[in-house]
Amino acid sequence: MQADAIIQRSTPARKVIPIVPYSVKGRYRNIKSIILNIAFAVYFLLPWLPWHNKVGQALLFDIGNARFHVFNLVLYPQDLMVLMGVLVIAASLLFISAAMFGRIFCGFFCFQTLWTDAFRFIEKWIQGEAQARKRLQQAPWDARKLALIGSTHLLWLLLALATALTFTLYFAEAGTLLRQVIAGHAPVAAYITITVLTATTYVAAGFAREDICFVACPYGKFQGVMQDPSTVSVIYDQQRGEQQLGRKAPTAQLKTPQSRSEQGYGDCIDCGYCVNVCPTGVDIRKGFQIGCISCGLCIDACDNIMDSLKLPRGLIRFDKDENLQPALAGQNTPALAGQDKKAKQDHQQAQKNRQWMRWKRAAYAALLLGSIGFTWHAIENLSPYTAMVQQQRQPLVTQLADGSLRNRYQLRISNKSGVTETYRIEVHGLPEGSFKGWKQITIPAGKSYGSDFSITLPAPLAKSTSQFELGVVPSSQVQSRERFTVRYFSE
Ligand code: SF4
Ligand code: SF4
Repeated sequence: MQADAIIQRSTPARKVIPIVPYSVKGRYRNIKSIILNIAFAVYFLLPWLPWHNKVGQALLFDIGNARFHVFNLVLYPQDLMVLMGVLVIAASLLFISAAMFGRIFCGFFCFQTLWTDAFRFIEKWIQGEAQARKRLQQAPWDARKLALIGSTHLLWLLLALATALTFTLYFAEAGTLLRQVIAGHAPVAAYITITVLTATTYVAAGFAREDICFVACPYGKFQGVMQDPSTVSVIYDQQRGEQQLGRKAPTAQLKTPQSRSEQGYGDCIDCGYCVNVCPTGVDIRKGFQIGCISCGLCIDACDNIMDSLKLPRGLIRFDKDENLQPALAGQNTPALAGQDKKAKQDHQQAQKNRQWMRWKRAAYAALLLGSIGFTWHAIENLSPYTAMVQQQRQPLVTQLADGSLRNRYQLRISNKSGVTETYRIEVHGLPEGSFKGWKQITIPAGKSYGSDFSITLPAPLAKSTSQFELGVVPSSQVQSRERFTVRYFSE
């Protein structure tokens, strides 16, 4: 049965009833709370973190001036490679975590999960535990209900507003923008962003909640492709939980593991606590389901029940499917030892699957290492400026009255450093006087200038010249000089 459930990746039809999950205490709840606190502290404080860089702010996405300040790094649109590298690293980490630990990202780190968790803390703080919240939902509207529901929504809105406001602070000098927003002098784009983000956070974390995971999140949909029997995920040990006769509430005769086992009952007492605490309403005892975000709360719930019954913990646990079904791991099983033909075929298939899984993980690891190396190299080679030479093609070559031939070019330099810089232009391998144009250009910080120049050569020399070297030397950082090989046309 467990195997069927795993293979089918069952997706039960969702009941459209609001989920009111019970509270639970335990190690995974504690881990989730610690991560939530750290994530909120980082998100809300990072725009305020002073830093010894040009803008005095650790993180600033300065869209107006087309540059990103990330601690001591200044990235420009030309440094797209660094951004690409970071995105590929993030994607590789996601693939690896999905292959090794299933939806652990969804359950512990996803913004949607974190903010929904925070909204649920507010709800519980004001309205009480799940039973009290359910009673309040069903109660007729009166002053008390109005006060409790109203204050919940007010705090939700304040948290959504703080979230949206903080987001905008990443795009400007935080203190200045905050003062402008409060005084009503901020750019219109800031107010639009704050309004839209406040509304979407309020709706997503207050109302849509797990529906985002079910309906909108693409990650959950392709999760099944990356997961395999050696992936660690939340599983219910069906053999232990059900034995031959299934689940049964504890009675005087069914209290110890021995007595339950002797009478053919498993350790699951069918209390339903694991389902009641699930934020997505999943019953993990039915096998792996797309709605399970691997948050581990059902593990805490079941461990609490097992503790109270003095039964061993781990009826629901983080584990690999193959540990429950050795055949999935390609291990020898009793059936195989007995030369069962079907078991042998399963065994061979499982071994092939394992080989494929090894290749898949090796590919993810290679992608991660490759992207880290690529990004590191891109950061190490970040230049304080970019320069580009373009040939003017209309016309490509001009013959002058004295018979000499002229090619025209445009040199564009972008000053990516934080200070005004003077760039010296050098031509190598051509006679003195063949270069006509600015021999040095001064460009303010963050600006980009274009400068036209031409190369004129006597006809015989022009005929034997197909390229020349152009050098750009920033005066204050001569070690960052660059040389370009530029084509020269004589016809
Ligand atoms: S089934 Fe368990 S791990 Fe999965 S979402 Fe529900 S509580 Fe979390
Ligand atoms: S919490 Fe444990 S004992 Fe209770 S229903 Fe779930 S699996 Fe069974």
